Amino acid sequence: MAYDDTNIFARILRGEIPAKTVYEDEHALAFHDINPQAPQHILVIPKGPYQSMDDFTAHAPDALIAGFFKAVGHVARQMGATETGYRILANHGADAHQEVPHLHIHIFAGRPLGPMLTPMKD
Ligand code: 5GP
Repeated sequence: MAYDDTNIFARILRGEIPAKTVYEDEHALAFHDINPQAPQHILVIPKGPYQSMDDFTAHAPDALIAGFFKAVGHVARQMGATETGYRILANHGADAHQEVPHLHIHIFAGRPLGPMLTPMKD
């Protein structure tokens, strides 16, 4: 499936839609999630047309992959979350309920975040 450059995060990257930016460099843009699920909920997206973690790790240049993940770590430090803890999460595809088809890493912090997933029933 081709990258859809009308997705909301592509539009944020092009400056067509506002976002509350907290960090930007040549590889990444980080901004507040519009519907936060923790006291701090930041999204970090790569500057490039990558639909998800799968597309990004298969097709992005190494410098962008390295720069992007360095940016995620930088943003978590900037949030002041390294002492108390934080969680990163990236949804890929239907089972993970990915809503926006541009890779984004969620960073959650600011409260105890509970278990990773609802435990499986037998
Ligand atoms: P996903 O389920 O794809 O991993 O997460 C998409 C995230 O994007 C959701 O947490 C949702 O609140 C956020 N989101 C959707 N539209 C917008 C928007 O226009 N601006 C911002 N800042 N976040 C958005």
